[in-house]
Amino acid sequence: MQKLFDKAELSRRQILIGASSATVGMAVFSGGGKTVHAADSWDFIIVGGGTAGLPAAIFAARRGARVLVIEASHQLGGTLFLSTGQMSAAGTQLQSRKGISDSAQLHFDDVMRISRNTADPTLVRLAVTHAADTFDWLMDNGLTPPDEHPLLGLAHDPYSVERYAWGPEGGISILEAIEPLVLAEEAAGRLTIWRGMRARELLMRDGAVIGVRAEDDSGKVTDTFCQSALLASGGYASNPEMFYALNGIKQYGSASYPYCQGDGYTMALAAGAYTRGKENYRCGSPRIMASTDEPALPDTRFIVWPHLRPPWEIQVNVNGERYVAEDSASFDERELALARQPDLRTWLIFDQSILDASPTGIDGWDKQDFAEAFESHPMFFKAQTLDELAEKSGVDAVGLVSTVERYNRSQASGKDTDHGRAYMPLPIQKAPFYAIRQQGFSITSTVGIAADDQLRVIRQDGSAIDGLYAAGEILGSGQLMGKSAVGGMMITPALTFGRLLGGSLLPLKV
Ligand SMILES: Cc1cc2nc3c(=O)[nH]c(=O)nc-3n(C[C@H](O)[C@H](O)[C@H](O)COP(=O)(O)OP(=O)(O)OC[C@H]3O[C@@H](n4cnc5c(N)ncnc54)[C@H](O)[C@@H]3O)c2cc1C
Repeated sequence: MQKLFDKAELSRRQILIGASSATVGMAVFSGGGKTVHAADSWDFIIVGGGTAGLPAAIFAARRGARVLVIEASHQLGGTLFLSTGQMSAAGTQLQSRKGISDSAQLHFDDVMRISRNTADPTLVRLAVTHAADTFDWLMDNGLTPPDEHPLLGLAHDPYSVERYAWGPEGGISILEAIEPLVLAEEAAGRLTIWRGMRARELLMRDGAVIGVRAEDDSGKVTDTFCQSALLASGGYASNPEMFYALNGIKQYGSASYPYCQGDGYTMALAAGAYTRGKENYRCGSPRIMASTDEPALPDTRFIVWPHLRPPWEIQVNVNGERYVAEDSASFDERELALARQPDLRTWLIFDQSILDASPTGIDGWDKQDFAEAFESHPMFFKAQTLDELAEKSGVDAVGLVSTVERYNRSQASGKDTDHGRAYMPLPIQKAPFYAIRQQGFSITSTVGIAADDQLRVIRQDGSAIDGLYAAGEILGSGQLMGKSAVGGMMITPALTFGRLLGGSLLPLKV
């Protein structure tokens, strides 16, 4: 885990390495490497001090519960360090200040409409019903969205009402609102946080969770006990093996929080849980990767969003075939079409005339930057003929030549009978020809642990596993957003479910 921690340290903000890990060291790790049973037991153990875990900790501590957070990293925040932090909530104070009329029912209807009813209605209902309280709570604690918020949407298919908002620094703005509250509870002795401890196993008795086994960076193991445990350990998007095992699709991109290794899934499944949502796998808009590694780091992105830059290029798959109207107004349609292509891969194809005449396709790049990339970047290809371009870039030559001929005919006639694209400013006919290889991938986890309307983890027969709860990405985008990207429907439910569990859902005997 040390290596992962180094990477996490590269995030925009460093937090609090340390103070309380010394305490943990004294209390727990005096056993010289053998398993030590901690004397303490807790009302509530939260595995993961990130987006869902931190609100759960704050609210449970405020209820007077004995709460332990076990966090694998030495810093709190999890994916909040990386997340764009775009939230959606209906009936917020921000909306009412702007005279926007909205309701949880409208939010629910929008999520189900955008997801084409593929999202889980029970979890969506719970999330949207309480989202405004979450958002207002963040604003009460300093979150300040820009004046023009809330919006209908951005980079996802739009809502029917302006309910989409975020802070100026995305996930970091959320962390800045809630982290002081966590630290205040910790400082007051109402909350204990074990940093640098990785939960490994749920301790069970008669089918119920009674504790958690955790391990520190040096491999020392401790068992600690509880009435209830919350798995808020995030997803599995940084674990390519688990990603493939659960999604049936390779993880092509490496852009998720490095500690999100899917540990919570392993623990929940061992306790009798099951997963949902695999059929809802989808990828986001494509990126230009830094290398052909799998997974690879995203390097930059071409602007393939027609509302920002109408497309001059065509996009083809490895067979050289177009697969979507490149100017389709629906983010969802374009992304779902990409998800159906082999290896989620797509090449932009264009020629010298398009390169000369079109607005830049990469923010901040000028013609010189493109010229250099076509000489040196592993995803940029240039050739004097389409055959040669196909060979260099790894696309089928017969397919590419025939697709370009067909596109040129459509462009000349003004009618794209294949996909209905309307914006076709120039044909692709003047050498040299260019290709840019792009990759679709997912930064989040589609598959989720099944849970009921009180966020209790359930078995396949619907029965709840006593003492086990789940919140956050471990529930999977496939349950909260279905087979679509629905604005804010990962981070807002994560925060909301954590807040709800800590605040009321957990049946604490305190
Ligand atoms: C780049 C990016 C942009 C995004 N943008 C948006 C957006 O704009 N809107 C939106 O709705 N969603 C967005 N998401 C998704 C959303 O941010 C996440 O789904 C959400 O933050 C996950 O919250 P979580 O609490 O489940 O996980 P996290 O916040 O990652 O917290 C999990 C915590 O558990 C810890 N942990 C993991 N394993 C263990 C273990 N075994 N023991 C102890 N601790 C452990 C981790 O270190 C981490 O601190 C984005 C995601 C990414 C990666």
